[in-house]
Amino acid sequence: MNTGWVCHELYMWHNTQNWNQLFEPGLTIQPYEHAENPETKRRFRNLMEVSGLLDDLTIIKPRPATQDEILRFHTQSHIDNIKAVSDAGGGEVSEATPIGRGSYEIALLAAGGAIEGFDAVVTGKINNAYVLCRPPGHHALSDAAMGFCLFGNAVIGIEHARAVHGIERVATVDWDVHHGNGTEAAFYEDPNVLTISLHQDNLFPPDSGLLSDTGSGAGEGCNINIPLPPGSGNGAYLAAMEQVVVPALRKFKPDLIVAPCGFDAAVMDPLGHMMLTSSAYRKMTEMLVAAAGDLCGGRLVMTHEGGYSAPYVPYCGLAVVEAMSGKATGLEDPFLAYADAYGGQDLMPHQAEIIAQATGLLSGIKS
Ligand SMILES: [Zn+2]
Repeated sequence: MNTGWVCHELYMWHNTQNWNQLFEPGLTIQPYEHAENPETKRRFRNLMEVSGLLDDLTIIKPRPATQDEILRFHTQSHIDNIKAVSDAGGGEVSEATPIGRGSYEIALLAAGGAIEGFDAVVTGKINNAYVLCRPPGHHALSDAAMGFCLFGNAVIGIEHARAVHGIERVATVDWDVHHGNGTEAAFYEDPNVLTISLHQDNLFPPDSGLLSDTGSGAGEGCNINIPLPPGSGNGAYLAAMEQVVVPALRKFKPDLIVAPCGFDAAVMDPLGHMMLTSSAYRKMTEMLVAAAGDLCGGRLVMTHEGGYSAPYVPYCGLAVVEAMSGKATGLEDPFLAYADAYGGQDLMPHQAEIIAQATGLLSGIKS
């Protein structure tokens, strides 16, 4: 498999300041690091180099997205607001979403990196692509930043693929631990984009990502939320993929599969409360690669979203890109021997119940 890789050092220079995880420091909150800081992503990139896998990938150079490309999803006032705060030296553009000077230009480079990844896949230059971009995008709304996200990188990539390359049907599979609300909102009434989100039940945004939110208007039936109970592990996620996600893809028959990929459902994550290990991320990716191979000529693009464990994200990321490229580096995940054996990794009845309810949504998908 010829796999593309999009990254840029400037992605790491998006400055979320010295917040204490989610909170602005002050006299009662000691300064620390914002949860969405560069470390997890930079270490992921570093392990890609150390493992040798980077040598086997097609490097795709990002470029800034143009205003017109951003405007396919976002409003002008949202773009202007991000630029104004960035130019003024930074500040909070949404709750718990601080940015720094230059974050506007870096966010354009993230969206443009996604576009370049989509371009390379859709034109057949490569089979699939991983876009390690920052800031992330899956919470961003058309008119607002949200949850560390400024511009919807995956949405902008999808709109580009549709507008420029005539791609008609797209399916998204978002396994970030938080609900992919921005992607859902972008396509909620669109019958040509199937949006699927696996996430921890009622984590973020609050009261978002319900099973009963299935799309509206012409898009009715084309949104699937799988809100898994906190504590879900490898067994629950693999069951959800096997019983809901893959059958949904096979019924919808997309021309392109897009995965907003977060690693905050991993067992070591400080914000999520799930238990995934790199072995599950590998298997879930293999399922998407197989589905893409059967349904849409292998076309698969992943955009990087959350994931906040600096020690562990790199191993999950490496497993994903190994599965995308079909190349095994032999580099071992040192956590795996312990974490795969943790209690709770098997599918449990209360998790199976939610997954069974989600299988009921398959009949609503228009093929
Ligand atoms: Zn997340």
